[in-house]
Amino acid sequence: MLKIHHIDCGSMCPHGRKLLKGEGNLLERTELCCHCLLLETRKGLVLVDTGFGQADIQHPYRRLGAHTKWLLAPRLLREETALAQIQALGFQANDVRHILVTHLDMDHAGGLADFPEAQVHIHRPEWLAAQQPSTWKEKVRYRPIQWQHHPLWCIHEETGESWKGFSMIQAIADSDDEILLVPLPGHSRGHSAIAVHSENGWLLHAGDAYFHHGEIATPAHCPPGLATFQKLMEFEGSSRLHNQARLRELARTDKDVKIFCAHDTMELNQYRSSQ
Ligand SMILES: [Zn+2]
Repeated sequence: MLKIHHIDCGSMCPHGRKLLKGEGNLLERTELCCHCLLLETRKGLVLVDTGFGQADIQHPYRRLGAHTKWLLAPRLLREETALAQIQALGFQANDVRHILVTHLDMDHAGGLADFPEAQVHIHRPEWLAAQQPSTWKEKVRYRPIQWQHHPLWCIHEETGESWKGFSMIQAIADSDDEILLVPLPGHSRGHSAIAVHSENGWLLHAGDAYFHHGEIATPAHCPPGLATFQKLMEFEGSSRLHNQARLRELARTDKDVKIFCAHDTMELNQYRSSQ
């Protein structure tokens, strides 16, 4: 049976608690996480997103850029990397057979280099955006140094299959488990959620399709700073908001699916406490 670990692979402490969490004051620091999944399957480990990696911690300015270090203030602790957490569970890097990435922003792709033998599953438009960035946002958000080790890319096209009304791609061909890429573009060009079927129903890792749990509540709400940050970072606003609305409707109508995003610490703590 699939065993699921909810892990934080990169806590960040930017200023602006009032704007980002809707509480505290403006100058106070807040905390954002990089919520990743580690799946123990019968055929090895599967990672969903990677957070920051060992090299990001050793060379933060070169790998992430000074603006990220200043703006997002990542803690960059070795023990928070996926590799360190996997080793703490008694596994090795090469036990990770597959990685599914929601997208290739630097806070999601930094750990790829720690697992050079893993197959990296990605939706084609996201891979293309990272290889050939076409806008200034794409040139800023992607850090090619994070994949200069030439990952074993598995680049997926949509197949026409669907899951709960969403397009889906069965990413790992030889898996006994249902682990799906669910394209949800908007935040980035080929952003996807990742759906995982567990004994307790479906988990949907929504990546950066939203940033605050209030955005998929009905009625929706979001602290103003987080709303502005998402707008600044979006590749395409109308598809981002449309996909956010679809997630909200899914959360409202289908109690078999538990949805969470990458950077909401409240959501992460809920899953960790029930682990
Ligand atoms: Zn992110």
